[in-house]
Amino acid sequence: MTTDAKIHTLVITGGHGFEGEPFWEMFNSFANFSYDTAVFPDAFKYLNVESAKNYDVLVFYDMWQEITVDQQTAYLELLRHGKPIVYLHHALISFPEWEEFNQIVGGVWKRGKGTVKHNVQYTIQIADPSHPVTKGIQDFEIEDETYGNFDANPNVHVLLKAEHPESAPVIGWTHRYGDSQIVYIQLGHDGLAYGNPGYRQLVNQGMRWVVAAGN
Ligand SMILES: [Zn+2]
Repeated sequence: MTTDAKIHTLVITGGHGFEGEPFWEMFNSFANFSYDTAVFPDAFKYLNVESAKNYDVLVFYDMWQEITVDQQTAYLELLRHGKPIVYLHHALISFPEWEEFNQIVGGVWKRGKGTVKHNVQYTIQIADPSHPVTKGIQDFEIEDETYGNFDANPNVHVLLKAEHPESAPVIGWTHRYGDSQIVYIQLGHDGLAYGNPGYRQLVNQGMRWVVAAGN
């Protein structure tokens, strides 16, 4: 599959509020793209090999906390089968009791250690401009919520960086878990991010690349 092929996505939310209208407007703006939506806990019914097979890529913009052992088993099976995934923003903070989730998303934000700050004006640095996820994107300014004091796992391929006291230095990456290609983008708290052209391009290229890389 090429990176401009038509892709069909499942966008999963739940466990954290967000500005719906500008969020969905971002997805509506993408060409060669269609999507369905699901909300936790109902979204668990899609998180198995059979039910997810109609989707090229799963996008998580949730912050759901609870997951049963059976749900973990089905989720891990999906990753073993190579389902491409993009995690956005507070999806990093999902399933805090499920240790393996840190390996899946590729980083860890710990309660009592990690920090958040709203409406920070800062520069997103493209760490690897030759990567398909960041291709054509220059360093850009954004007003968004930063997460500080969280760690990307050492094995991830770094895509985005920041130099700001309220932000962790590594804020976007890709890696593989099981057979799944995964992208995490820390940005994306509200309409200020969803409307930012740099952010839109990252989300769009991120989804397309995890699909292309998995084929
Ligand atoms: Zn947020």
